[in-house]
Amino acid sequence: MIITSVTARKVETPLKNPLTVALGTIYTSETVYLKLETDCGLVGYGEGIGVTFVTGETSDQTLNALKLFEPIILGKNPHAISQIHREMDMLLVGNGAAKAAVDIALYDLMAKAAGLPLYRFLGGSSNQIETDITIGISSPEKMAEMAAQYVTDGFRELKIKAGTNPDLDVEALRLIRQAAPTARLKVDANQGYTVATSMRVIRACEKFEIEAMEQPLPFWDIAGLQELRTRTDLPIIADESCFTPQDAFKIAKTGAADILNIKLMKCGGLYRANQISTIAESAGLRCMLGCMMESRLSIAAAAAFVAANKCVIYADLDSFLALDDSSVIKSSFNLEAPTITLQETPGLGVEVNI
Ligand code: MG
Repeated sequence: MIITSVTARKVETPLKNPLTVALGTIYTSETVYLKLETDCGLVGYGEGIGVTFVTGETSDQTLNALKLFEPIILGKNPHAISQIHREMDMLLVGNGAAKAAVDIALYDLMAKAAGLPLYRFLGGSSNQIETDITIGISSPEKMAEMAAQYVTDGFRELKIKAGTNPDLDVEALRLIRQAAPTARLKVDANQGYTVATSMRVIRACEKFEIEAMEQPLPFWDIAGLQELRTRTDLPIIADESCFTPQDAFKIAKTGAADILNIKLMKCGGLYRANQISTIAESAGLRCMLGCMMESRLSIAAAAAFVAANKCVIYADLDSFLALDDSSVIKSSFNLEAPTITLQETPGLGVEVNI
């Protein structure tokens, strides 16, 4: 099987509601879809989408990067994925979204060629996973209202965005705990705190039974994360501090986090995600599989990874709920909150029209 054609297309995807996090507000989403055709008739699909204040990658950059990657991909067998990643890395540093688009399309092709749904191709035995759902920053009352609604909808885990105002964050968590007494809660401060404010929020929230705090400090502050871990038992999740397997190794070595939030768009796809989870597992850390503004295409890939990797303890794969991707994605997995059920068809199990 040889790749004979590479087509990339940018699609503007409307957001149903703007999402506010400590770093900024997202109003719209521009997704780059990738189609790889082969000489045996199989077609693989991928998706690349950066969020500029996290990945520094715009959709035009993703498109340009894919143009540069074209000579690397054309004429190769999709199973040459290690070589393709190496050549992409040698040509262009970073650009995780563009690399993820290529990587996901290659896995789609490999799984289709094997006649297996991707989750089985990756080693999974069940096509079902549980996802949490995210509550963006708003008034504490509004956030509590959303928490109650999501629990009524069937979700059991809530990820609460925080990091702009510690006092309002604590008040939001108090009201959310009242509104959703049985929900499992994680807090994501998106780099908005210092060590001191993190400790203040953690102490004030002790009685609200928070399970973990994600990326309280700026991405570069590994020493701060280390210090925080010596001062609290609350598990710390590294997100913006952990893009690559090298970052994962550094965090594991310095003891800067308990859990690594893997996102396909940060690390460059499933191949690197697997390397990160291997490092985490070897170091006694756990993983979370997160997302940014991905459509159902990349979410299907991430969910398959969760289904196949036992060291992933949290799935935060809800971005598709905020988007209308129906102009491109014709069918995919099912969500009956909180369970995502993947298709049994070979590959990603996503029908794409690009
Ligand atoms: Mg995060």
